[in-house]
Amino acid sequence: MKITFLGKYGGYPGKDSATSSFLLESNGFHLLVDCGSGVLSKVQSYVDLKDLDACILSHYHHDHIADVGVLQYAMLVETKLGNRTKPFPIYGHKRDAKFDELTNDIYTEGREISVGKTSNIGPFSLSFCETIHPAYCLAMKIQASGQTILYTADTEWKDDLVVFAKNADVLISEASIYKEQFGIVKGHLTGEEAGKLAEQTGVKQLLLTHLPHYGEQEKLVEEAKQGYSGPVQLVNPGMVIDLK
Ligand SMILES: [Zn+2]
Repeated sequence: MKITFLGKYGGYPGKDSATSSFLLESNGFHLLVDCGSGVLSKVQSYVDLKDLDACILSHYHHDHIADVGVLQYAMLVETKLGNRTKPFPIYGHKRDAKFDELTNDIYTEGREISVGKTSNIGPFSLSFCETIHPAYCLAMKIQASGQTILYTADTEWKDDLVVFAKNADVLISEASIYKEQFGIVKGHLTGEEAGKLAEQTGVKQLLLTHLPHYGEQEKLVEEAKQGYSGPVQLVNPGMVIDLK
């Protein structure tokens, strides 16, 4: 299973970049995880849109769905060109009317994901855990080829995530805020909390995403290392992690 990071920012993209998102690849199947601003442009450096197989959304805040509309237009064009013959599946939860907008005529099709139900998307097997965030949001456990990734999506600390993520190989955690903002900014994790989650779940490596536009992002790594003894790094667009 190969992970290619497309964007690293929370809230909005920085200059020439994208919001937090990544592309997963296994057995030739391409799954896009979250689709915020800048993502549709970035993903084309790694896969032709005609070969993109599915997209999954953690929740419906703009920094995770801003490019869904243009993704739908891309699928319309690819279908009309004869490059695609089936509706492009976009997975998301149904706790919001936004779900209905994932289906666009014959070009894209909304498919439901939910807690307690495993979704099999190509070679990927996914299960979900509700996070603590102002919008209903799902963390994802993604398994393929004997490897497991845990993606927190957007959340503040929740003990359930430790149980949910236990023994994953890789933790892709949001780290939206610095330690000094703890308790002031709700719905997100500090670098320190991301490290604590990595330690308690016993993952082999920690990757920090959904980063702030201000401050020194490397401080988030230092914070994480205080609670976690394994390798930690900030994600960057184009960074590839090949799990074997
Ligand atoms: Zn977000």
